[in-house]
Amino acid sequence: MTELSIILPFHNESVGLRNLFHRLYPVLGATGLSYEIICIDDGSTDSTFENLTHEREFDQRLKIVRFARNFGKEAALTCGLQMAKGKIAVTMDSDLQHPPEIIPDLIAKWREGFELVYATRLSRDTDGKLRQLFSRSFYAVFRTIADIKMPEGAGDFCLFDRKAIDAINAMPERNRFMKGLTAWVGFRQGTVPFTVEARESGTTHWNFFRLVRFAFDGLSAFSTLPLRIWTWWGAAVSFVAMAYAIYLIFDTIVFGIDVPGYASIMVGILFLGGLQLLSLGVIGEYMARIFTEVKARPLYFVADRVGFE
Ligand code: UDP
Ligand code: MG
Repeated sequence: MTELSIILPFHNESVGLRNLFHRLYPVLGATGLSYEIICIDDGSTDSTFENLTHEREFDQRLKIVRFARNFGKEAALTCGLQMAKGKIAVTMDSDLQHPPEIIPDLIAKWREGFELVYATRLSRDTDGKLRQLFSRSFYAVFRTIADIKMPEGAGDFCLFDRKAIDAINAMPERNRFMKGLTAWVGFRQGTVPFTVEARESGTTHWNFFRLVRFAFDGLSAFSTLPLRIWTWWGAAVSFVAMAYAIYLIFDTIVFGIDVPGYASIMVGILFLGGLQLLSLGVIGEYMARIFTEVKARPLYFVADRVGFE
């Protein structure tokens, strides 16, 4: 009977891997719980898989899944939660930005009766300035327009009770914005603040475009406002156009017809053209995601499975 499942996604983390286990084992030992460590090698091109296999020689409770290619962190976390046998599961980054020493605090909070415990980061200092700005704006927008409440600073460092694991596993969608799904399932949710550490080795896998896509994945999965907002824009623009038309009629009757109007026509055409393309683009974004959902492809393919019965 496994009590605690640790879920770790790896993408080209061979260098920091030894250090991670070096810090993780004492913490897990001290909890006194029976545990398993589920490592998902998300299509690494370095020696991550070999190093994980090597780690397994010291501890058979380490289990390894190797993905057929890079399917992304969300797919890796989904896989981990599906494979987890524990009464509770903890998901965390494998680059040591999420300190393992916080795990006992998460468990303590769970013992208080919380079924979902987020480790929330106190600051974003370890991220670049531009990324901090981007994250902040995204979460500000998300909080205003999405239908769920995500705690400030919550990420993928999280403890799940079995009830929450089963709930998340029961959600069939392809677009897996994990933070959103986690907040959406409900249950008693608690937080434990922690200080993010600098990345142990290597660099972040996120560039600007990946972040933008991730942001829109999140927004579109939990809000339909970007789709609906155009109704209001359309109504507002039509209203202004109508008022302008009335003004033009009177103007023509009183002062007669004169030629000018080039500038206002250009502005009108460009503005409305831009607005139409933008709204079409948003519809396209949603449609592309509907397309992905309808195809219903598996979220990931497993190439190797080590240590599972
Ligand atoms: N990761 C992954 N698949 C990916 C990208 C990242 O499994 O396609 C893992 C990575 O190994 C790390 C975690 O997800 O353990 C967080 O990634 P990263 O440190 O690049 O993100 P950041 O901390 O900058 O948000
Ligand atoms: Mg990181």
